[in-house]
Amino acid sequence: MDRVAGRFLSKPCLRIVLGTLFLAASLTASAESAHSSPKVWSVTAQPILLVNGSPVLFRVSAPQKLASLKAAWLDHEITFRYKPACKCWYAIAGVPLETKPGAYSLSLHGEKASGTAVDFEKSLTIGEGQYPSTALKVAPEYVEPPKETLVRIEQEQTVKKDTFAQSASNPLWSGRFLLPAKAGVSGVFGSARVFNGTKRNQHQGLDFRVPSGTPIHAANAGKVILARNLYFEGNCVAIDHGQGLMTLYLHLSHFKVKEGDAVKKGQLLGLSGGTGRATAPHLHFAVRWQGTYLNPATLLKLTPP
Ligand SMILES: [Zn+2]
Repeated sequence: MDRVAGRFLSKPCLRIVLGTLFLAASLTASAESAHSSPKVWSVTAQPILLVNGSPVLFRVSAPQKLASLKAAWLDHEITFRYKPACKCWYAIAGVPLETKPGAYSLSLHGEKASGTAVDFEKSLTIGEGQYPSTALKVAPEYVEPPKETLVRIEQEQTVKKDTFAQSASNPLWSGRFLLPAKAGVSGVFGSARVFNGTKRNQHQGLDFRVPSGTPIHAANAGKVILARNLYFEGNCVAIDHGQGLMTLYLHLSHFKVKEGDAVKKGQLLGLSGGTGRATAPHLHFAVRWQGTYLNPATLLKLTPP
């Protein structure tokens, strides 16, 4: 509604030429007061306390009517979308795990329908995420994959790299992200895994305690960009939600979707299992944003407008 009015008012030239200058001016004035846009920028982040590894929902209200809004954030580009109901712009972004605590700026760049740029900077504080450390003792070949699997692992790394590099330019998701399975959590995101005394990667997903054969559902709408068996991930489904945001579902026993499928929020993706490098059946649920893994538990709590 707002955007339609904006487009209409951005083309008053013909009317002015026809000598209805007075009418055009009064139309503009009444349209502006009717929309009562805030006269200052309002930028909010959810969660309020940002930490490394956290997804973040930005909500922005601009003092002027904009045709588009983008932002630069931690060397990433964010494209916002407009919601008439809240008269606000919003987008989901993230804070990579390796980000050091400190103050970082969200550099907003809006464009009016006329093409005029409107810029605003907001400084946001990022704290240090408190992630537990888990010591695990495993057989050496579990940490170092057998030699004969190395070619396969290398090929799959290329497949994943190519797949994750492609994301829809428009957001495919809407509203809240749903739990992929109704089950308890057996492993949190970010826990430092110390295998046989050596610190390995932090756990980059959220584990759900589900027996084999449990239905696993899409957390939000999107497109299936990966549905195949991989060495570490087992039967793995990845959904692209657009603009670099993706969710992954690992160790499945059965697929119920195939690559290229468009899926709705809550759609059945497959059945849980213990395929790949899993010690027992469980669902490893992961969230990617523009090449970095983020805390799924935080994504599930965000309340987009
Ligand atoms: Zn896991």
